[in-house]
Amino acid sequence: MIIVFKPKTKDNDLNRVIEKVENLGLKTHISKGEETTIVGLIGDTTKVDARMIEVDEAVEKVMHVSEPYKLANRAFHPEDSIIDVAGVKVGGQHLAVIAGPCSVESKEQVIEIAKAAKAAGANMLRGGAFKPRTSPYAFQGMGSEGLDILVAAKEETGLPIVSELMDARYIDEFNEKVDLIQIGARNMQNFDLLKEVGKRCTKPILLKRGLSATFQEWIMSAEYIMASGNPNVILCERGVRTFESYTRNTLDLQAIPVIKELTHLPIIIDPSHAGGKWWLVEPMAKASLAAGCDGLMIEVHNNPEKALCDGPQSLKPEKFETLMKQLTIIADAVDKKL
Ligand code: PEP
Ligand code: MN
Repeated sequence: MIIVFKPKTKDNDLNRVIEKVENLGLKTHISKGEETTIVGLIGDTTKVDARMIEVDEAVEKVMHVSEPYKLANRAFHPEDSIIDVAGVKVGGQHLAVIAGPCSVESKEQVIEIAKAAKAAGANMLRGGAFKPRTSPYAFQGMGSEGLDILVAAKEETGLPIVSELMDARYIDEFNEKVDLIQIGARNMQNFDLLKEVGKRCTKPILLKRGLSATFQEWIMSAEYIMASGNPNVILCERGVRTFESYTRNTLDLQAIPVIKELTHLPIIIDPSHAGGKWWLVEPMAKASLAAGCDGLMIEVHNNPEKALCDGPQSLKPEKFETLMKQLTIIADAVDKKL
């Protein structure tokens, strides 16, 4: 249920109504826009009589929200959310371009890629230190040592760091070292992890879509994080599983307008894991930006042939630079800032 207040409602009028609904045992979520204030009611609203609230002179209308997600719902928060990642804004007109290797392999590798990514115009650095691999025999990542390498690359370039958290035991370390904490596709429905992340992570969260998650399942996972106390969630579409096996996954471009319709959260696109082939990255990145995404996450490697993970889908720095130039033109056309 949401309460829409009359334009320019004063705080004492707002507080009177809030007190009334909180006395009914409900929690409230206030969203103040330029003109109107919206208050979302969280909890069991089935016994609430909308007319009891509507009689108040400050209230414009009371509406039922039928979706099971409230905090992520655009009805609760009509304006786009803008998330601050260590000073880099994401959402609205602000684009995030996150570039870097699939996994951290060495200090030299990460620093070389980070410098090239920054020179080409990226505004965040990615790198997996803890890697979710299908095979237990594949490279599992450098762990904490990998995070320290990312921190060193941040000191060198100033780029905020994005890295994947797989286990709640490392939350304190991620809070200290990482600027945007990624929850990977395979953990999208690890509800205990989502609750811990919501409760304890002091940094924004990048929530990737599960391999076969519906929009509602994905948004409900964001809702878990938000309801547990962390409102700063960015969604990331990274391709879904279909019958097609030629490409690694199938990029769901429709996710961009659908997520924007249903939620106020920023959505970024990862064309690298979607297609699984480096030459699909450029056309899909351009299409995603044209479709209105709030950012891109692109795997860039200085030596893809020798990469320990995801070389075939990684761009070489020169290719990334060319792509960035083309993206600048599209960003202009869709009124976004790179
Ligand atoms: C990644 O970004 O490194 C990753 C493992 O992605 P996903 O969870 O989308 O497979
Ligand atoms: Mn990867």
